[in-house]
Amino acid sequence: MATNRTFTMIKPDAVANGHIGAILNDIIAAGFKVVAMKYTHLTEKNAGAFYEVHKERPFYGDLVQFMTSGPIVAAILEKDNAVEEFRKLIGATDPTKAEEGTIRNKYATSIEANAVHGSDSDENAAIEGNFFFSALERH
Ligand code: ATP
Ligand code: MG
Repeated sequence: MATNRTFTMIKPDAVANGHIGAILNDIIAAGFKVVAMKYTHLTEKNAGAFYEVHKERPFYGDLVQFMTSGPIVAAILEKDNAVEEFRKLIGATDPTKAEEGTIRNKYATSIEANAVHGSDSDENAAIEGNFFFSALERH
């Protein structure tokens, strides 16, 4: 059964391009409630661990460099069927293939600098949320 929480990051490109406010507005307008949120800057160790599943992929090194290139916003979001609904809201990984009106279509600049992260399963949403937030930081 689908749970009602997902995890997101506003990535360094979108933060640097001034899109934090617009992206949060789109997320809230789509019916997500913010359960936890922080503005932080990943170290290489943090980013390497977060994207460990992609370790064997050719873009892993670049991805870790990119994710540490500037601050990010991390958040836990709540909505019915949150993981699937959020993936719909952000659009395809490659912004040139992301549907009109999706967050990546509007704010991403490339397949790597693609504005936001969204968990791909309930299990990963829980793991990723726990990576960033303690129980005391969720409301
Ligand atoms: P995310 O996990 O960040 O929500 P995603 O699930 O759409 O993105 P993944 O396949 O999990 O896509 O890839 C993780 C991230 O790695 C992508 O968001 C993107 O920043 C980067 N990435 C994926 N494929 C490529 C690629 N071919 N070249 C460069 N970077 C890539
Ligand atoms: Mg992914």
